[in-house]
Amino acid sequence: MVQSDQLPKNYDFAEVEERWRKTWRDEDNYFDKKSRKPQFVIDTPPPYPTGNFHIGNALNWCYIDFFARYKRMKGFNVMFPQGWDCHGLPTEVKVEEINKITKNDVSREEFRKMCRDLTIKNIEAMRITLRKMAFSTDWSNEYITMMPQYFSKTQLSFLRMLKSGYIYQSEHPVNYCTRCETAIAFAEVAYEDRETTLNYFDFNGVEIATTRPELLAACVAVAVHPGDERYHKLKSKTIKVPLFGHNVPVVQDEAVDPAFGSGAVMICTFGDKQDVHWWKQHNLALRKAIDRQGKMTDIAGRYKGLTTTECRKAILADMKAKNILKRQEKLAQRVGTCWRCKTPIEILSERQWFVKIKPDEIQKAAHQITWFPEHMLRRMENWVEQMEWDWCISRQRIFATPIPVWFCTKCGEMVTPDEKDLPVDPTLVKPGHPCPKCGSTSFSAEVDVLDTWMDSSISVLNVTGWDGNGNPPYFPAQIRPQGHDIIRTWAFYTILRSVALTGQKPWDEILVNGMVLGEDGFKMSKSRGNIIVPEEILVKYGADALRQWGAMGAATGSDIMFNWNDVVAASRFQTKMWNITKFALMQLEKGGFDEHEPVTALADRWLLVRLSDTVEQVSAAMEAYQFDVALKTIREFAWDVLADNYIELVKGRLYRQDASRRSACLVLHTAFDALCRMLAPFTPYFAEECYSYLKGDSVHKQPWVTFSYDDDAARQEGNLLVQVVAEIRKYKHDAGLALNAPLGKVTIYAPHTVNDEGDTGRTLNADVHWRTDVVKLDRVITDIDFNRSVVGPTFRKQAQAFMTAVKTLSPAQLENPPKTIILDGVEAAIPENAFTPKFTYMEEGAKVDVITIGDVIVTIAKK
Ligand SMILES: [Zn+2]
Ligand SMILES: [Zn+2]
Repeated sequence: MVQSDQLPKNYDFAEVEERWRKTWRDEDNYFDKKSRKPQFVIDTPPPYPTGNFHIGNALNWCYIDFFARYKRMKGFNVMFPQGWDCHGLPTEVKVEEINKITKNDVSREEFRKMCRDLTIKNIEAMRITLRKMAFSTDWSNEYITMMPQYFSKTQLSFLRMLKSGYIYQSEHPVNYCTRCETAIAFAEVAYEDRETTLNYFDFNGVEIATTRPELLAACVAVAVHPGDERYHKLKSKTIKVPLFGHNVPVVQDEAVDPAFGSGAVMICTFGDKQDVHWWKQHNLALRKAIDRQGKMTDIAGRYKGLTTTECRKAILADMKAKNILKRQEKLAQRVGTCWRCKTPIEILSERQWFVKIKPDEIQKAAHQITWFPEHMLRRMENWVEQMEWDWCISRQRIFATPIPVWFCTKCGEMVTPDEKDLPVDPTLVKPGHPCPKCGSTSFSAEVDVLDTWMDSSISVLNVTGWDGNGNPPYFPAQIRPQGHDIIRTWAFYTILRSVALTGQKPWDEILVNGMVLGEDGFKMSKSRGNIIVPEEILVKYGADALRQWGAMGAATGSDIMFNWNDVVAASRFQTKMWNITKFALMQLEKGGFDEHEPVTALADRWLLVRLSDTVEQVSAAMEAYQFDVALKTIREFAWDVLADNYIELVKGRLYRQDASRRSACLVLHTAFDALCRMLAPFTPYFAEECYSYLKGDSVHKQPWVTFSYDDDAARQEGNLLVQVVAEIRKYKHDAGLALNAPLGKVTIYAPHTVNDEGDTGRTLNADVHWRTDVVKLDRVITDIDFNRSVVGPTFRKQAQAFMTAVKTLSPAQLENPPKTIILDGVEAAIPENAFTPKFTYMEEGAKVDVITIGDVIVTIAKK
């Protein structure tokens, strides 16, 4: 054991954290495939490699590391892998920015290489933050989705689901971002409130209101309610579309609201989801007026080539000129926009690839998973219940997993690669054999790529060892930790894919964390200037303080507001704990203690029983992933119970040289050892530092605390003991006495005998007697307190006379004052609150002060 005088006076987090980071070995956190311990596999979220590990990631990873470390201490074979979800648009955009090019300026392959290079650089930067944060990552299970080892699995999963009928291609309306020039899934549509104009115009004699006149070219029908008598004459008729001149049928549909506008609406392909619905229902024609770049097509005639915004303006101007635009109104509207670039999405009919959604299968698996917090399951249920369209998985981009498919140019047959040849980029290689249908060797490659969620939704299959041959060896995983913002994407898609590929749920449990808000309570954003980066906190207060903030900020699943004060408080706790450490080590090194010697003193038994309670509460909180409860309980024990109460109480005993000192040392050692181990998941650097001084070993190799001690009498009497001591200390403080100043004789009248082994007397520096009989006190009035703010204004010049008169009253009158008093021969009213008698208590003829604590009475005869 290191001598306590060699311990630095102050805890230097920067020095300590760096030293342990260099000492710890990655191998100690590897998942052991040969282990016979129960497995605990974590389906860690693979972050997008932006180069910055943000505070939201930090919170999420804190939770993961808390339970990963806890489970290791509990004897589990833990896998805490680290993945990187590389593909996607943000990197493409960044590469275009950095290199001042557009993706079409270089070859696809070259563009991909640029994206890969940037991603590798970003991953390296983020790994550094992960290490600084002391996350116990299993680096032997790192995966990078853009690497062949991983995306060959994505392609394998695609082929398997294609074969089993889960994946199909078809021409179908999809959500499309014309700025990003790609289809997107419903989960990627964000909704924004905007103000728009509702335009009423004359549609060949019928008044129609529309917010999107540019879609007039795509109009395929006019719909009215079947019960709307105004339009009975139009039944089974066609009418001519203004400005464009094509004829469209009038259809009747119950879904039309006759009270809205004129009760007639136009159906376009496609203005919204309702249009898609009607289009299918009434088997209408398809008119594509908007192309993938958001420009008007041939169908738009003289408006061809205009953007949708330009076209809207031009059409409204033409309507005005032709006098068919009747009126315009402002209208508040919710618009579906691209999650990334906020461009309003278009619904375009495209040949795309889809994954079939089977809601019942997903609901069933979702219910087999335990959700923390429980109410998050409801979010999944809601999302599945409202699914209408299948999942569109094809994207018209470059940096993504290629769809491994060719088409025979002669007969159109779809050709897929052999599984053993994966991964393949069909745009770079040809199929290994001729077309099975017509024998042709001429093929065209699928140029669409896969949605990034197709990569990340098999993360759990990847970490559990899936290779397509039966169920993976470590499947299902034990837990999926993730944010509530990606329940409808990552959680949903993962469940879908696991069920499709294995027939099983992906994990036993899912732990959902909240979002981190700025100090102002708003979502962090550049424009608000409220972004906090983990690196800043690491430099100022260290990783352990940041990790404590993560634990204490809020209940698991709730959003958490960033607050510097919480980080400062965390750092203060470390200072306090460091002082406890130094004190404990100093005592322990002075003299041995015997682990087998009985603990008899009340304070010692009390501390052990409180420690036992703490261990039980903290363990229960850890099992339920309630990290705020766990850390709060640990802090209260360390700060209040151990430091402020126990140590103060037994300090005096520790300077003696007898069995009672050894008992206190044993208790101190037990408590300190347990505290280090309970803190290990939360503050790995700090706990390691303290424990290394105590035991010369790593706390992270120790089992979780199982300490248990049952002594209800000690809990009750000990609570009373510390309460009495605290009250008398407060009395000393109020009386202006130093805490170690001699106090005289203190008699404590308690309902039953308390054997405190002299601790109370030593800590108070008093002659303490515990008694169980009833106190006998005489009460005398020795003085009167006058309330000058009442007496002065009421009696003015007679104030002195009033006070003199009051002093002549009998003790009984002083306690129950009469209504009036004679002043200079005149009767005067005694105002309320004019004075209070001051009592003095006498015990056995000596003057004493009295403190009442519940049913305990303390008398103090000062020296
Ligand atoms: Zn977009
Ligand atoms: Zn063919």
